[in-house]
Amino acid sequence: MSFLGAMLFCGASLQAQTDNGIMRMDEFAYPVKRQHVSIPNVGGFQVLKCDFHMHTVFTDGHVWPNVRVQEAWKEGLDVISYTEHMEYNPHHEDVKVDHNRSHDLAVNLAKENNIGLIKATEITRQTPPGHFNALFIKDANKLVADNDSKLDQEAIDKAIEQDAFIFWNHPGWQVDKIPGSYEWIDFVEKMYQEKKLHGIEVVNGLGFHKKALDWGLDRDLTIIGNTDIHNLIAHSYNIGQEGVHRTMTLVMAKDKSAASIRQALDAGRTVAWSSKYLFGKEEHVRNLVDACIEVGSAYHEKKNAKTNRVTKYYEVKNNSDLYFELILKEGNGTKRIVLYPESTQILTAQDGQAKLSYEIVSTYIRSDKHLQFDIKLK
Ligand SMILES: [Zn+2]
Ligand SMILES: [Zn+2]
Repeated sequence: MSFLGAMLFCGASLQAQTDNGIMRMDEFAYPVKRQHVSIPNVGGFQVLKCDFHMHTVFTDGHVWPNVRVQEAWKEGLDVISYTEHMEYNPHHEDVKVDHNRSHDLAVNLAKENNIGLIKATEITRQTPPGHFNALFIKDANKLVADNDSKLDQEAIDKAIEQDAFIFWNHPGWQVDKIPGSYEWIDFVEKMYQEKKLHGIEVVNGLGFHKKALDWGLDRDLTIIGNTDIHNLIAHSYNIGQEGVHRTMTLVMAKDKSAASIRQALDAGRTVAWSSKYLFGKEEHVRNLVDACIEVGSAYHEKKNAKTNRVTKYYEVKNNSDLYFELILKEGNGTKRIVLYPESTQILTAQDGQAKLSYEIVSTYIRSDKHLQFDIKLK
């Protein structure tokens, strides 16, 4: 037998021994890996990627709880919450109603995958007032499960008794069906006055609730963005295409422990991120932008022989997986700069200017206002 023949024979016999008659074709399998979503630290805080609004089969979702942990791991999220409806259990004939169950079933897998899990629920009142998420609860089964409007106040109070962090979900979700529901209603004002409302969901799925952002900013509520996912994430988002991510809340926190997340939410250190856009308080959006965008010193200059004008060249670098689009408002330089994730653009500016003033149109610091961003020219 030739050497090659011996090799083949040897290989064939080895295969026969190890594969039990089954040939594996893993070429089409999803490569098991966690995607990185890279965002530099902001003011000494990590920028954690969080989704505080998700459903499973334990209410009206379509997946088992472990799937949410697998998705979160794969997509580079740090912290998630199961927020099953307290008052709405359409699968109750097939799945036993237990409002803690989805969270409890996911605890071990979350630990093994280094995903933070915040115990939560969705207080699902009729609209108005609508839905509220309560985070950091201890026992969902002790909350109100009857959606009679007379119990609205009690439903909130029971969550407050468990020291919950409460935010108003998708305030405009019934704007076309229930007149007056997308307003700063008395019930919510009372919650706010009594310090029982701490945040507001300004992005739900792929919908930006514009009025909610302004209400939140005017009242110093924590700005939140979530998926409110019921199906697979990959069913609703084009996950897998480069740069595509689910809607989430970026939380600037010391670490991913529940205590640090709570501190950050109480302090309002959040920015909602959905599609190409960032939504939040000016201070936090600015800090995030400052951490991500870097402008170098001029590396080249060119003189126009006819006009004698000197044009200077600079590099503008985006050190993050976020997306920024800048439109020039004042000064003489590049009119529009698109900073794709982890990339650099060239900026040109006429000599003799101290700065160029841009508007970052991929940010919302009010429903009708983008972040002003000055590039200092060195
Ligand atoms: Zn809801
Ligand atoms: Zn929901």
